[in-house]
Amino acid sequence: MNILDYSAIELVDKIKSEEISALEVVNEYIGSIEKSMDLNVFISTRFESAREEAAKVDERIKKGEKLGALAGLPIVLKDNIVVKDEITTCGSKMLENFNSPYSSTVYEKIVEADGIVLGKANMDEFAMGSTTRNSYFGPTKNPLNADLIPGGSSGGSAAAIAANNGIIAVGSDTGGSVRQPASFCGVVGIKPTYGSISRFGVVSMANTFDQVGTMGRNVKDAAILLNTLIGTDENDSTALGNKEFKLDFNFNDEEYLKNIKIAIPSIFMEIELEAEVKAEFEKAIEILKANGVEVKVVETEYLKYSTEVYHLLANGEISYNLSRFDGIRYGYRSEKYTDISELYKFSRSEAFGDEVKKRIMVGTYIMSQEASEEFYKKGLKLRTLIKNEIEKIFEDYDFILSPTSSIMPFAIDSDISNIEIYKSDIFTVPTNIFGGCGMSVPMPKLENGLSVGIHFMGNRFDDANLIKMGIAFEGLVK
Ligand code: GLN
Repeated sequence: MNILDYSAIELVDKIKSEEISALEVVNEYIGSIEKSMDLNVFISTRFESAREEAAKVDERIKKGEKLGALAGLPIVLKDNIVVKDEITTCGSKMLENFNSPYSSTVYEKIVEADGIVLGKANMDEFAMGSTTRNSYFGPTKNPLNADLIPGGSSGGSAAAIAANNGIIAVGSDTGGSVRQPASFCGVVGIKPTYGSISRFGVVSMANTFDQVGTMGRNVKDAAILLNTLIGTDENDSTALGNKEFKLDFNFNDEEYLKNIKIAIPSIFMEIELEAEVKAEFEKAIEILKANGVEVKVVETEYLKYSTEVYHLLANGEISYNLSRFDGIRYGYRSEKYTDISELYKFSRSEAFGDEVKKRIMVGTYIMSQEASEEFYKKGLKLRTLIKNEIEKIFEDYDFILSPTSSIMPFAIDSDISNIEIYKSDIFTVPTNIFGGCGMSVPMPKLENGLSVGIHFMGNRFDDANLIKMGIAFEGLVK
């Protein structure tokens, strides 16, 4: 078998038992990256450092040292997660040359677990988007069909897994940015419960929604990465970790499924789905039912406002979070200014892309004194109503089921409207509004080589159970 065919779990075993060296694995993956450069997966790579780190892993194994859970695994990081003395761009001209003075907790944890980071993946600018077309560094192509978008905003991370440019990847998910690109690229994406992974060194988009998530070719691979990242952090007071979280791969799928109850909100049944999405979603429901899972439609009142609430609140937070990019402390500075106000104005207008500017403007308005009662505060109230509604569903059900996206990946040069794109996030944003966990698991490939992702949303801190569900479901559809 080729090195690229092994799962992450198999590879760690083989590396630790010296059957394959970490250096061989890393070289094989670097070779694969070099063959698919035209996909534009990476903003930067670190091949020399990766090779040195892999050689060190091999040396330590030879000495009989006990290594971490990710020993020698080639990993891809979204380029909004900082690594000390390396460039982090967030897909923006604003940070094109930004050299981070410190490392994120996520990166530190990967290093601690002896994982090897190969590079930083392309993304929509400051994580705003669902396409990876909003990157200053050009769009990433979908490895399943290079004419199509890979989804976003963590499109580089998802494409990396689909193209064997890494075996597991880290993304960030504010409204679906791990799960939707995973779905579009036919891989698994998990967004854990809000606050379970530290955001220290992860550049904020909308901090009450942002959460780091993981991707892999299968649920177990994505889960072992998640397992090393979950934890508290003295540098991030919102990082609660997850005391309930324990990986359990040794359970009886059949028995497990018989005790599972799944809800589908009625509003989700009314949303127009692209034909392939509809057919695959219906298939998924049938398969679950045939295996003893109880699947019921439940009525909801407020969930239908999720996309609007998300954009109202997230844009408000975006306008605050991005105010730090002022041409003085971080990143790009215009050369044309004559006074301080021009310095701010020109630096920001020259370095931010259109989507970012639009969201900052809308967000600034929403948070202004004249508009905040009407919009922001109403949004907050609705967020609470949606949260309560979801909480109520979880009193009786284990998961909420939906497709991951209402649409299939479209052409990179498509002129689909932004509103249509925003609307297609309806199944992923509720998880972030609520703060729970969510996962996209691919259905088998269709004749056109694409696949439809099925979305499971879980209760807060029920991530271990979500992973079991994913493993069981993957077993059913394989
Ligand atoms: N697609 C959503 C947006 O455009 C979500 C982005 C994200 O999760 N970072 O805001």
